[in-house]
This record gives sequence, C-alpha cells and structure tokens, in this order.
Amino acid sequence: MINPRYTAMLQEKDVIFEIFYEACKKVEEFGEENVYNFSLGDPSVPTPEIVNQTMIHKIQTLDDLTLHGYCPGMGIPEARANIAAGLNQRYGSHYQASNIFMSISAAGALAHAFRAVARPGDEILTFAPCFSEYKPYTSGAGVSLSIVPADIEAFQINFEKFEEMLHPGVAAVLVNSPNNPSGSVYSTPTIQKLSEVLTRKSEEFGYPIYLISDEPYRDIIFEGVDCPYIANYYPNTIVCYSFSKSLSIPGERIGYLAVNPECADGEQIIDICPQISRTLGHNGPASLMQHTVAETSLATADLSVYETNQKLLYEALTSYGFTCVKPGGTFYMFPRSPEPDAYEFCRKAAEKNLMLVPGDIFGCPGHFRIAYCVPTERVEKSLPIFRKLAEEYGLI
Ligand code: PLP
Repeated sequence: MINPRYTAMLQEKDVIFEIFYEACKKVEEFGEENVYNFSLGDPSVPTPEIVNQTMIHKIQTLDDLTLHGYCPGMGIPEARANIAAGLNQRYGSHYQASNIFMSISAAGALAHAFRAVARPGDEILTFAPCFSEYKPYTSGAGVSLSIVPADIEAFQINFEKFEEMLHPGVAAVLVNSPNNPSGSVYSTPTIQKLSEVLTRKSEEFGYPIYLISDEPYRDIIFEGVDCPYIANYYPNTIVCYSFSKSLSIPGERIGYLAVNPECADGEQIIDICPQISRTLGHNGPASLMQHTVAETSLATADLSVYETNQKLLYEALTSYGFTCVKPGGTFYMFPRSPEPDAYEFCRKAAEKNLMLVPGDIFGCPGHFRIAYCVPTERVEKSLPIFRKLAEEYGLI
C-alpha cells in the first residue's frame, strides 16, 4: 500500500512553488521582461571561477577510485580538516576534523542534527519568521516543531514568549541567522541573551538543550552588520552549513554539520551521524564536491549584487510608505503587508505581474517576502509597481 503520509503531503500546497509556476505562466503570456518574479530563493550570481577550476583540476589529477569511489561515512578527511581549519581562521574557534560531518547541504545537516539530539515525540522550538521547510524536515524526524511568535519590530527574538514556551521536553532550539525570510541578523546582545537563557534552562531542566544553528546565509552579510558566530557563544551548538548560497552551487548539494568542540556528548553526536545516514539513505555528498570544497571553503561568489538590490529596494519601499525591518544579509526582505491578509496583498501584486510570497507560510502573517536574488535591472524596473501598490493602498 502506498504510504498515506506522503500522499497527504501531495494535497498540501507548496505556496512558493505555486507562485513560481504562476510566474512561469505569466512569462509565457506577457514575456520575461514584464514579469517580476521574486518568489524563489535561488542564487543569481555565477559560481566563483576557483570552484570550477578546482573541480576541473580534481578531475584531471585524481585517480578514478579516489574521485568516483565511495566516501567515508563522515566525509573525506581533507574536506573535514580544511573546513575545521577555515572556521578556526575565520571565527577563532577550535574545531578539529573530528568535529565536522560532511552532509548533503544544509537540508542534510539539519536532518542529522534533529535526529541526533531529539527523540521522536520531543519538541524543537524555533522563531518566527522561519523557513517553511522546517515543518517537513522536523516531522520527518518524528519531532514536533513549535514556533515562537515573531518580534516584528526588529526580527530579533521575542524572549518573553520564548521563555514561556521553553519547557522540559524541548530538546533543541533551532535558529536561522541571517534569516530566511526576513534577512535579519541576530545581534551580539541577542545571541548573548539566547545563550544565557539556554544555559539557565539547561541547568533547571537537568539536561543540555542543544542549539541548532542553520547558517546557509552566513556569508551573505551587508556592510557594517554585526554577524556573530553563534557557536562561539553557546557550547552546545551544532552548526548546519551549506555552500549552496555562498558559492552559488545549490544543485551540487554540499554542506556540513559542525559540532562545537565543547558540546555535551559532541563526540557521540558526530559518531552517530553516519548511523543516522544509514537510516536516511543519505550516504554523503559526491566526492568531487567534497574534494572541491576542501580547497575552496573560504571562497565566496561575488555576492555584492544582493546588497545593491537590498539598498535599492529598501530605500524605495520605505519612501513609498512600506514598513520594513532593514535586512542585514541574505537576499530576502520581509515588509509588512499594507492589508492584514498578506495572501490578498500578494494576489493584488500578482495581478500586476509582481510575484511575492505571503508571510503566513513563514509563521508570520501580515508580511510578505521579496526574494531579490535577481539582476539589479529587474529590481529597478519593479519599483514603479511597488509604488503603484503603495498608492492604491494609500501609503503615499
Ligand atoms: N535553511 C534555510 C533557512 C534555507 O533557506 C534553505 C534553502 O533555501 C535551507 C535550509 C536548505 O538549504 P540547502 O538547499 O542548501 O540544503
């Protein structure tokens, strides 16, 4: 019998893809230049040359068995060692190769982290607004996900609600900074306070509450923004990283899980990751990519277009009367919807071929997401439509 759990998922709408497909239909009808598709968070800048060159070099110089053979369950030793060294160089941390597990991007790292520190039936807390895929990711691990309501003034952490919701039975707290969909970055005081609360509650509950830090946007930070390395503030931190956005290689599916050297039962967390892989059929990222990031883990694509787009959009939208927390990184912006029903607002925008995503799917109604990972010329051309919407809603 076909598993009804997954057939039920077929009935659930993937709102982002529905909007994306609607955009594709509009492109056929009105032409590419007349549709402003801000629905998907796909990187829009080229992969750095060093990555392509390293891949070519590896293909030309490694023997076939090394290049195409099975990899060790934890990942290729050089990749683990070089990633640890790169993190230490950049953040002053003390990782060793033994703290790193190579994963299929952030999604794969999260799948391991959830299963490593939460048992079926345990709860994981996260903060609105949050990535919509956290729901299937956690339910697949048999874990329940609770979402702490947003601090809509700054998109930092609503600590009052957080403490109310943090009770025995919460195995881990999941954070995502820089954040999809708000673009906001947790400040040092926010991270310090988060660490203080987790330390106090861990003592009170008599077990370590793990902090899972989902960091695919860690390298997309705008000028002057303080982006603390979260793991330096709380020992029981598991970082889930992806090279998808920093190197513009989402299709290559490569990332890692990094367990703090001081993390409670940290060695065991890494030890069990390959066992978790066996239950998932995960079996690690392709060896070519592991060999490649072993040499390019500190490289990034030219990410500057995202900041250019952020400036243009933020200045324009706020001047038209939209309320918006200024993004500190990523390629997302999350303004308030001028009407309470963000679905309705996004429908009205779509009538003008401006494709936006309602905040409801990120656990934060009354907002909409703009994914501005597009050429700057597209952002410029979309501004009159935002202006028209602002006029229609009486914002200007
Ligand atoms: N976490 C967040 C917040 C994301 O936005 C994404 C992808 O967009 C992921 C995890 C998954 O990243 P990857 O596709 O690199 O696994």
